[in-house]
Amino acid sequence: MNVKTGIILPLLAFVFGSVALAEEPTDYRFPRECTMTPAGYPVPLCGKPLTKTPVVIKKEGAALKKYPEHFIPEQEELAANEMRITAVGSGNPPVRRGQASTSWLVELGNGDKFIFDVGGGTVPALWSLRIPLASLDKLFVTHLHLDHVGGILNLWDSMGWARNTPLHIWGSSGSTPELGVAAFADHVQKAAAWHTRSKTGIIPTGGMELIAHEFDAAQFSPDNPRAVIYDENDVRIYAFPVDHLLVGAVGYRLEWQGLSMAFTGDSVPTRQEAEQSKGVDVFIHELFIDAPTFAKRNNMPLQIAQNVVDEHTPADLLGRVFSIAEPKLGVGTHYFTNEYTIDKAFAGMASTYDGPVAIAQDLMVINVTPEQIVTRMAKTDLLSWAAPAPRPADGKRPELEPYITEGRTPQWVIDTGIKRKK
Ligand SMILES: [Zn+2]
Ligand SMILES: [Zn+2]
Repeated sequence: MNVKTGIILPLLAFVFGSVALAEEPTDYRFPRECTMTPAGYPVPLCGKPLTKTPVVIKKEGAALKKYPEHFIPEQEELAANEMRITAVGSGNPPVRRGQASTSWLVELGNGDKFIFDVGGGTVPALWSLRIPLASLDKLFVTHLHLDHVGGILNLWDSMGWARNTPLHIWGSSGSTPELGVAAFADHVQKAAAWHTRSKTGIIPTGGMELIAHEFDAAQFSPDNPRAVIYDENDVRIYAFPVDHLLVGAVGYRLEWQGLSMAFTGDSVPTRQEAEQSKGVDVFIHELFIDAPTFAKRNNMPLQIAQNVVDEHTPADLLGRVFSIAEPKLGVGTHYFTNEYTIDKAFAGMASTYDGPVAIAQDLMVINVTPEQIVTRMAKTDLLSWAAPAPRPADGKRPELEPYITEGRTPQWVIDTGIKRKK
């Protein structure tokens, strides 16, 4: 390097580096001030949903339920014919403090609750909703990528008291037995051997059971493009294959009392998934950032970024999916929501679709009734404790299993214990 470039290159880096920083300042505020993007959307994390249609009327002229500006846990009862959908995690594998990986919660007016995916970093938001853990025991996974199942250890950890009953997990088989959800659940339990054994006899361990309900991926075909995999208490959940790398990636459609939602996990857009989600109230579909932005922000080579992007759904093609499915509200999720990324996504969807859409951010709440669909943000306590555990029906506390003496801390370590003087 000669003297000239030795001076000029650092100078250029300084100038352009400063320009980039000035355009996209690091933002430490929380919550953020609700300024608007150039296209007129509120910036993420400011307490407003990312949509221009926060209210979608389904029945013109009907009396409409009124909602407070924010959803606050334990302060709103669901009506008997109402569904509440919460974006517990709306993001990607690089878990961010303001945007965890993927997880959705569906609560119904009959008291039933369903979790769809539990990606890394999502459980703190789920627990901040102050729902008794015992009622959060039904997990449906779209596929076994860690940004969709990586939070399972936190969800499954019943804390020995808050849930003393098994966690149930539904998911597909794979092309071989070890790639299915049953093998996954088995491995999770084996990985937790130390955890479970250490607590036996100390606290109840009934919650440390994980029960897999694996459905057969081979049952699906053009003549049988979906199957009922859950049918209880008037709730019907269908699974259907989507195009995402391996056999076993599925979407789900939940129907209950005329209300419905679909969630397709990760996928390359297909007519199959659009048709299986046709006409639902809320269709939650992934939405992926463009390859150049992904490469730059994620510090990865463009070709690798492109390989990832090619397994996902860009905004203009999501608009095409929505235009086939015709949901009452289309929701793009799994997107990197920054104030300088969302306008591009809305513009992409608008280039192919003109129905109501939203982009998910963590703790976005959607209430669905026969009359309307209302989208808001939740406010939850960042230092919330676990919700109270319900008393068992028979009023009895769970009994402890026998204490295991083998393999405990060596006696010579115990003998060095520091005790209070008597
Ligand atoms: Zn994903
Ligand atoms: Zn995936």
